[in-house]
Amino acid sequence: MSVTTLDINFIRSQFPILHQEVNGHPLVYFDNAATTQKPIKVIEALGDYYKLHNANIHRGAHALADRSTGFFEDTRKSVQQFINAKEAAECIFTKGVTESINLVAQTYGKAFLKPGDEVLISYMEHHSNIVPWQMICEETGAHLKVIPIHENGELDLEAFYKLLSVQTKIVACVWASNALGTINPVKEIIDSAHKVGAIVLLDGAQAGSHLPINVQQLDVDFLTLSGHKLYGPTGVGVLYGKRELLDKMPPYQGGGEMIKEVSFESTTYNEIPFKFEAGTPNIGDVIAFKYALEFVNGIGKDAIIQWESKLLNHFNAGIREFGSNRIKLFGAAKEKVAVQSFLLEGKHPFDTGLLLDARGIAVRTGHHCTQPLMKFFGIEGTVRASFAVYNTMEEVDVLLDSLKKMVNR
Ligand code: PMP
Repeated sequence: MSVTTLDINFIRSQFPILHQEVNGHPLVYFDNAATTQKPIKVIEALGDYYKLHNANIHRGAHALADRSTGFFEDTRKSVQQFINAKEAAECIFTKGVTESINLVAQTYGKAFLKPGDEVLISYMEHHSNIVPWQMICEETGAHLKVIPIHENGELDLEAFYKLLSVQTKIVACVWASNALGTINPVKEIIDSAHKVGAIVLLDGAQAGSHLPINVQQLDVDFLTLSGHKLYGPTGVGVLYGKRELLDKMPPYQGGGEMIKEVSFESTTYNEIPFKFEAGTPNIGDVIAFKYALEFVNGIGKDAIIQWESKLLNHFNAGIREFGSNRIKLFGAAKEKVAVQSFLLEGKHPFDTGLLLDARGIAVRTGHHCTQPLMKFFGIEGTVRASFAVYNTMEEVDVLLDSLKKMVNR
């Protein structure tokens, strides 16, 4: 689908939640980087699972167990196609990006990091891609190094090349920043890291719904995705990993499903992906997630990114038209997803958020789980508007109009 043929009204009609008033105004939902809304097919699939199919998966001898297992594994195949993984078994279900990163840090990190090794992250990481590495570095004696950024929110690639060395064992980097929108040059990062023998984990929390993903072409070692930021349910995430790495990693948690044979003396572990899926997974939400992927595929990533870029450009052009220096934008990278952080002069971001909420506009305020990044800019937090494919130009105008009134007050 091209952006010119996108039928936004039809897209919006699939999202029941969008058709409501908040504080006496039509809801304008611009908090998509925190979580996207869910299309009706996802909601219905979740209801249907509990109404019609609910059973525990994989070992049941009865029809419902068989059916639920089939649906669950269908989603795994959809994920495989969505990211172009070589095998479905390389796609592990987790709770979200946070759990996916912790899994890699606590298994791959614990098994392979040694004192003096280095883990590289960037200044614009979400706390989920900082703290797990801090924890494992502390445990193993490895060092955490941070790639600086430029004032416009782009990664300082020169500094990255200086930091990269044979000591570097893991590069863990956000694909698209949730606070600034910056799209990082991940292919270049991956290829350079591989040259020194390091592996790369990408935090794909924000990339998932906006950018085309091809893990084989990227040659990325680990990619993490979050269902709830991708029009899917909460509590579903994906860890993609290359088989050769997943096979040699120890398990994350012990329990049912992840074993081949258990005795009191010793246990042998299951094959991937089950080795990393101990216990009963989030069956219903995983099954419903497939419909979120179908929703995105039905529109196409190219059309999505084109439309969202139009929304972002319209917003930024509108701000410039104010002719006011009373609003400051953060994040001016050349390549961006549709996320814009800003501050109104003299106004705490939370107060701006509350005033916008009174007009029915949902934005996020605060540090966006990127406190070191906020420190870099010398601020406590920002107001963040983040756009999704179901947003309209008229909605952007409502936001612009509200901000204009605030800056002229
Ligand atoms: N990384 C980034 C860039 C994010 O935006 C988020 C969610 N705000 C996360 C990680 C954490 O993802 P999850 O909610 O799936 O744990």
